[in-house]
Amino acid sequence: MAYLKVEGLVLKNQDYKEADKLLTIYTPEGKISSIAKGVRKVKSKMRGGVQLFCHSKFELYQGRSSLVTVTQCETINSFTSLRTDLDRFAHAVYMAEITVELVPDREPNKDIFYLLLTCLHFLENYDPGLVTRLFEIRIINLLGYAPELNVCLHCGGSIERDAKFSLEQGGLLCSQCAGQYKYATNISMGALASLKALSNMNLDKCCRLRLGSADENELSSLLGRYIELRLDKKLRSRKFLNECSGSI
Ligand SMILES: [Zn+2]
Repeated sequence: MAYLKVEGLVLKNQDYKEADKLLTIYTPEGKISSIAKGVRKVKSKMRGGVQLFCHSKFELYQGRSSLVTVTQCETINSFTSLRTDLDRFAHAVYMAEITVELVPDREPNKDIFYLLLTCLHFLENYDPGLVTRLFEIRIINLLGYAPELNVCLHCGGSIERDAKFSLEQGGLLCSQCAGQYKYATNISMGALASLKALSNMNLDKCCRLRLGSADENELSSLLGRYIELRLDKKLRSRKFLNECSGSI
């Protein structure tokens, strides 16, 4: 890449030197680390478009050094409410951290970009817990970590009741097989039905689903742990989210 014109979402935004910012931008072309020079100056035209969670059109330049520079930036949607409402902010930070940590650098994936963009739009208007569970299961699926949600992953038998979920193996276990797995956790049939709907339904219709608080808490814990196990590290924003909303 010498020049690249691309739309993107600002997932990380850190002050650097006197007036610059270091940005992590997620684009359909992948995740790009860059520097936006002088954007903290009051007169900077790029100031608005580099704010956290902004959806903007970027022009990027990469010279001989490895650092990518933002040369132009025009705001498409600033997602203001995600920065002014603490609960929605905490959920957006969590989705951003999952994307930064789970998606490899510079790996193009239009589906993940569209998922994140859609979920940030949903987050402005719908139940933040529901939207975040939707984001978690969809990004897991898109990255090839989809759990088995229909039959027992050990014997292939159908799951009628008393289901368990193996975080390590990724999927359901029937009551007969669960004993052979060390890290099998309970999953209620209600939470399982919600998880299947979030995983399979048309994305645009998912924001209208209703998720009861018990199912939401169960899925929040299960999906958060599932992602952390794949990353082999804790997500810092899960703790922050817990403090802000008590949802995990
Ligand atoms: Zn089984």
